[in-house]
Formats: sequence, structure tokens, C-alpha cells
Amino acid sequence: MDCIFCKIVAGEIPSKKVYEDEQVLAFFDINPASPVHILVIPKKHIESAVALTEEDNALIAHIFKVIGIIAKEQKLNNGFRLVSNVGADGGQTVKHLHFHILGGKQFGESFG
Ligand code: AMP
Ligand code: ZN
Repeated sequence: MDCIFCKIVAGEIPSKKVYEDEQVLAFFDINPASPVHILVIPKKHIESAVALTEEDNALIAHIFKVIGIIAKEQKLNNGFRLVSNVGADGGQTVKHLHFHILGGKQFGESFG
């Protein structure tokens, strides 16, 4: 499958990893939009948040737990923005579910 993030999971494309376990990988975004910009992905290929099924319930709960662990490790104690773009209108460019952890700056109320 021609998926950049599956290739990162397989080690075929390098990444700057911040967290890894059997189900989840997190790495720094190559084009950071904030001082801390980390992508958290399931190792399993899931196209986006709307492609999740009942089977993924435990996985998605685990991803949110990992997001909390990473935020603590990155000292984002004052908060961060958590984003998951879905589809063309959502601005999703990589069709493998991912959560952006955007931190290290104060975001406004605007979502652009
Ligand atoms: P989205 O636009 O929500 O699909 O986000 C995709 C993100 O993946 C963008 O912020 C890109 O900068 C990031 N990205 C693309 N290729 C790589 C890569 N090889 N390593 C790290 N981040 C990447
Ligand atoms: Zn993939």
C-alpha cells in the first residue's frame, strides 16, 4: 500500500520517534506548525476518524491514553491543541488516521 505513515511504521521512511508500543507510534511532524508538533498514529492502517469501527474501540482509547503520556513527557502542562483532519475539506493530506499534538504556544479561538 502506498501510505507514507505505513512506511514510517515499517521503518522504510525515517522518523523522529517520541513514543512507540505494539499498537501506536508517535513522531515529530516534518513540517511543524508549532514549537511542539507531534503526530500520533495507530500502527494499523485506518483511513481516518470516520473509518473507525467497534473493533477499534480499545485502540482509540489507548491512543488517547498515549496522547496524555506524550503531553506530560513534552511538558505541555499548560495545554495543547489536538487535531485530527478528516477528508479533503478537513485538509487531510495523509490518509492514515493521525492526531496532531500542537503545543508550546498559545492558540487563539480561531480554527482557520
Ligand atoms: P494532515 O494534513 O492532517 O493529513 O497531516 C499530515 C501531516 O503529516 C502534515 O502535518 C505533514 O507535515 C506530516 N508529514 C508528512 N510526511 C511526513 C513525514 N515523512 N514525517 C513526518 N511528518 C510528515
Ligand atoms: Zn497507512
